[in-house]
Amino acid sequence: MSFPNRVVIEGCVIATMDDALTEHSSGHIVVEDGSIIAVGEGTAPPLEPDIPRLDASGCIASPGLVNCHHHLYQWLTRARAQESNLFEWLTELYPLWAHIDVEMQRAASRAGLTALVRSGCSTTTDHHYVFPRGTGDLLEAAITSAEEIGVRFHPCRGSMDLGRSDGGLPPDEVTEDRDAVLAATERAIDTWHDPAPGSMLRIAVAPCSPFSVTAELMREAAELARRRGVRLHTHLAETLEEQEFCEERFGVRPVEYLDELGWLGDDVWLAHCVHLSDSEIRRLAATGTGVAHCPTSNARLGAGIAPVVSLTSAGAPVGLGVDGAASNEAGELGPEIRQAMLVARIKGGPAALTARGALALATRGGARCLGRDDIGSIEPGKQADIALWRIDELDHAGIEDPVAALVFGPPRPAEHLLVQGRAVVQGGRVVAADESAIATDLDKASRRLLEAAL
Ligand SMILES: [Zn+2]
Repeated sequence: MSFPNRVVIEGCVIATMDDALTEHSSGHIVVEDGSIIAVGEGTAPPLEPDIPRLDASGCIASPGLVNCHHHLYQWLTRARAQESNLFEWLTELYPLWAHIDVEMQRAASRAGLTALVRSGCSTTTDHHYVFPRGTGDLLEAAITSAEEIGVRFHPCRGSMDLGRSDGGLPPDEVTEDRDAVLAATERAIDTWHDPAPGSMLRIAVAPCSPFSVTAELMREAAELARRRGVRLHTHLAETLEEQEFCEERFGVRPVEYLDELGWLGDDVWLAHCVHLSDSEIRRLAATGTGVAHCPTSNARLGAGIAPVVSLTSAGAPVGLGVDGAASNEAGELGPEIRQAMLVARIKGGPAALTARGALALATRGGARCLGRDDIGSIEPGKQADIALWRIDELDHAGIEDPVAALVFGPPRPAEHLLVQGRAVVQGGRVVAADESAIATDLDKASRRLLEAAL
């Protein structure tokens, strides 16, 4: 912790992302004990003289970004199956992933989380669904890495129980027994989940996808999540191949399949939702079901462009997700804001998504997907999760609108990032990470994974 429990940030533009999208041209934020206690234009009101002040002139402050979909372990397997669609890509990668161990998971998690916080992300999910038999606790490895880096964490205990021999996509050796999945998921909730306001860790229940999970596990996972008061997450409607799979196997499209399973509701958020009909968009909005939009991953796999503007216009919660680094090829959330704006415009024209609308997805929209009312905006009473971005250097100088500088301009790492008032990034450096050591560890772990899979 490099800031004490109180700090005053002054001299910066502030995009609060509150309900009115209030902005201050040169404002202040007062942080105390991990929360924001004041925000406004000009200098901070008189406070005791010993409170440290962070001169943030030349910066814009935004809420810390919220990453609604990720697979940290995929840092181990980037740039593979480079011209493949989702099913081909998965089919090539599953056999590799079958050899992940705790040490590899830790190396990938530390690398992935370092990249995320460096890009202004203060809260991230990690959807982990590969648990090879006989390995150690992969979930714990990700959780301890998140504690080390200092990021707010929503690990999603994933699972697969529909192997190839039963008509699913994954090979049988990466699937788990249904009862074992449910027991391990409940154990994770018992061990790690903190429902309190300001929580740094919440577990979600997250069977992987319609083509890798049985209907029975989907139903029982929903029952478990609701009994324990935790959220539900899965992949849905990512590709046309998935849609065809659902129509052939279940006789319905993906959204209708989830609806039949009792899987739509305001305690659910879904990754992708690229292929939706108008009535499915209305159904997601009416049920309050959230969507994690992953524009770069969808582009890389040629999946299509999610109807983000139609979803937000209908009232559905929409946040942004990096998705795994094996389908994004980078792992930073900041650039996804610009990417979301650009792909929305390819689909819907130049007025489809504004700079502020894109920033809202990455902040307040993401918080809504994760069911959190204590993050996602810079307001008194909210958690002090604050990203500060330089807009006075070569990349952004001369742009009059500071929010447009941040979103239209070239994506750059955050100058500072506070999570619960603690400095996680300071001066562009991740405080708790030795980046070169993390890169070396990742390289070794990736090579070891390849050798193990030979
Ligand atoms: Zn994913």
